[in-house]
Amino acid sequence: MELNSMKDLLEHEVRDILYAERKIVKALPKMANAANNQELKQAFEDHLEETRGQIERLEQVCEQLGIGARGEKCEAIEGILEEGEERIKAKGDDAVLDAALISAAQRVEHYEMAAYGSARAFAEALGLTEVVNLLQETLDEEGKADKTLNKLAKNTINPMAAEGAAKV
Ligand code: ZN
Ligand code: FE
Ligand code: FE
Ligand code: FE
Repeated sequence: MELNSMKDLLEHEVRDILYAERKIVKALPKMANAANNQELKQAFEDHLEETRGQIERLEQVCEQLGIGARGEKCEAIEGILEEGEERIKAKGDDAVLDAALISAAQRVEHYEMAAYGSARAFAEALGLTEVVNLLQETLDEEGKADKTLNKLAKNTINPMAAEGAAKV
């Protein structure tokens, strides 16, 4: 990897996130399928739809930057999703399994928030307003997705899991 300019760095970040989003879009249906709680299932399905739009936004960013929409392997998301996969396959109490899925999903959202936040800052430093706007839109969605999961965990899933209620 060569990073001679801020533009190189921004391009690298965008391709890294693009790779990550393309993996996430494949993982979310499995998360939705594994979720026991209906609201959680819905939250994953909603975010799946959003993620499709996020990939389109990144493709627009690539166009703005004059680069091909080619992803670059992101080792971090591979690892985070592998942990998610373990939880998808896990057996046990419904609510506890849902709590485990949420905690895996929040790792993804936080990774994305960090990545989009940095990329957005680089674009801002370069004065690329349209790119900033596109990245900001997605950053807001990731933040909202994280908050939704947080609320669901705190208000519903975690108390159930702690109670040992088997039915959700
Ligand atoms: Zn990278
Ligand atoms: Fe995303
Ligand atoms: Fe990465
Ligand atoms: Fe996300």
